[in-house]
Amino acid sequence: MNKPKQQNANQPIQIAVINASTVLTDSQVQAAIPALQTQVSRDFAPAWGVDANLNFVPQGTNPPAGNWWLTILDDADQAGALGYHDLTAEGLPIGKVFAGTDLKYGSEWTVTASHELLEMLADPNINLTVFIQNDNTTGRLYAYEVCDACEADNLGYAIGNVTVSDFVYPSWFEDFRPPNSTQFDFGQNLTQPLQLVAGGYIGIFDISAGTGWTQLTQQMHSRVRGEVGTRRERRRTLRTHWQKSHDHATIMKRAAEYRARVSQIVRRAAA
Ligand SMILES: [Zn+2]
Repeated sequence: MNKPKQQNANQPIQIAVINASTVLTDSQVQAAIPALQTQVSRDFAPAWGVDANLNFVPQGTNPPAGNWWLTILDDADQAGALGYHDLTAEGLPIGKVFAGTDLKYGSEWTVTASHELLEMLADPNINLTVFIQNDNTTGRLYAYEVCDACEADNLGYAIGNVTVSDFVYPSWFEDFRPPNSTQFDFGQNLTQPLQLVAGGYIGIFDISAGTGWTQLTQQMHSRVRGEVGTRRERRRTLRTHWQKSHDHATIMKRAAEYRARVSQIVRRAAA
């Protein structure tokens, strides 16, 4: 009897990198993958004990079975139009990079790709939290997001000519640690647990306030509200409302139609 093939817990997670965007070429996406791979295996895995292999999915081929997906998209609207939802078609974790949104705001898409990748590895089901109790009856759950506190582009670092996101260490969630007693993030931008730097934020759930998930921010910025499909939005969505993505072939067919529509609009605007 053949046993179903199972992922060994000690094996690296396999992640298919899919370019479904209209704003980046496949070669631009492919060029960033070695740096993302280096970040995961060299910098992230020793701190977090989770490693992954990134597998680029060329146009016209299907992502390998059992792979998680890191999908590069234009924005939340395109993600929905193509049929990308909360899980892959197989019901596995999916990370979404809204590269068009980044270009619009002048952010680096590779920093976002690194951010989404590392957060998917640290909390693939978007349901881990750390409880900080204030007293007998009150306290806050902190979202186990590893890039939000230090996500600003200018805190990122270069691997080759690709900028990747800074990320926190597990110690950042350990509130017994005094300031400067250990390293709290890879880039050493943070000096104490649960600290936010300029541009940083973290999701909190105040257990007695009745307000659900809200964001703690160092300074208000316009993108604090999570777009549809982001980790922030999914964290506050009941699991029973989570949807699987369409299968890759359907998505690619829709992507071709989407590209055709976009170029039609561009042609019309130019006419
Ligand atoms: Zn995040």
